[in-house]
Amino acid sequence: MSWLDNVRTCEPYTPGEQPNDPQMLKLNTNENPYPPSPMVEKALKDMDCGRLRRYPDPTAGALVHALAMHYRLKDSQVFAGVGSDDVLAMIFLTFFNSDKPILFPDITYSFYDVWAGLFRIPYRCIPLDEDFHINPADYRIPNGGIIFPNPNAPTGAALPIEVVEDIVEHNPDSLVVVDEAYVDFGAESALSLIDRFENLLVVQTFSKSRSLAGMRIGYAMGNEKLIRCLNDVKYSFNSYTMNRPTIEIGCAAVADDRYFLSCCQKIIKTRRRAEDRFRELGFRFDASLANFMFVTHPERSAKELFDELRKRHIYVRWFDKPRISNYLRITIGTDDEMNRLFRALKEILS
Ligand SMILES: *Cc1c(COP(=O)(O)O)cnc(C)c1O
Repeated sequence: MSWLDNVRTCEPYTPGEQPNDPQMLKLNTNENPYPPSPMVEKALKDMDCGRLRRYPDPTAGALVHALAMHYRLKDSQVFAGVGSDDVLAMIFLTFFNSDKPILFPDITYSFYDVWAGLFRIPYRCIPLDEDFHINPADYRIPNGGIIFPNPNAPTGAALPIEVVEDIVEHNPDSLVVVDEAYVDFGAESALSLIDRFENLLVVQTFSKSRSLAGMRIGYAMGNEKLIRCLNDVKYSFNSYTMNRPTIEIGCAAVADDRYFLSCCQKIIKTRRRAEDRFRELGFRFDASLANFMFVTHPERSAKELFDELRKRHIYVRWFDKPRISNYLRITIGTDDEMNRLFRALKEILS
């Protein structure tokens, strides 16, 4: 025996690289190319340092309230956490406690199997169909819970709300979690279903559509019983997860709806232009409703394109995984950034 026999080991998640290259064009982790709202900048400048000697509000009440008002919910229907990764980890720990496996797609956010491993939760990956779409009928098997992103990552494919509802409706005894990290870029949120289904949690984040990946804010919305369970586990773990400045910044970001909507619109517009350019260069892809595209080229391997782009200081995401190793996931940047990407791709392909 040694202490090594008692270590809780796990296969860690590999985040996208965060290179520090002055010439880089960073299109690899789906960050927003636009800065956060000017109201966020003002809140940061006006921050009162004296208040930092006090612990923050363990309920993050001001932010929970701002989100509840924004989405027309009660405060008791919102849970805030340190990025949606924190919220999702808390959800796995709280609700996925069955002997039956939880279900998620085989091609999806690669944190799900990591948490399942860490928390010893049995899981089963449900293959996407050959077009990389979720088939709701595949989710009508005994399970201990279901989670999927909508739009899915890294494909960008979005499920219509009826299909999400079908999955929730056919699994009344399981918690269904819809990870809506990218929903603001054109997909339909399942939020409208939470009053009808008490087994549904919707998770969103400030990291992508609100340009605040560096701040770490995520939240879950659902009926108050679910939110209470989440809070019970959170307070048993670490009550003061979200710091004071983050709560204030989060409130400022929620207040500026106009700026938020205009950034999302700009990205949607750039995505449409990018579709035309990718098509002209011979890429194949499916419709994406996220702030990234998932593309493949019939003549050039994704790994080669990835390496060639890298040589030109352009970072995109390539997954060395079954079924998707010939695809690149490319974040939608500004129009100028995308022009640089397409100039480089044209040169590489010629
Ligand atoms: C980016 C992302 C998250 C995590 O975002 P946070 O920065 O932790 O809020 C969660 N789910 C999916 C599918 C994502 O792509």
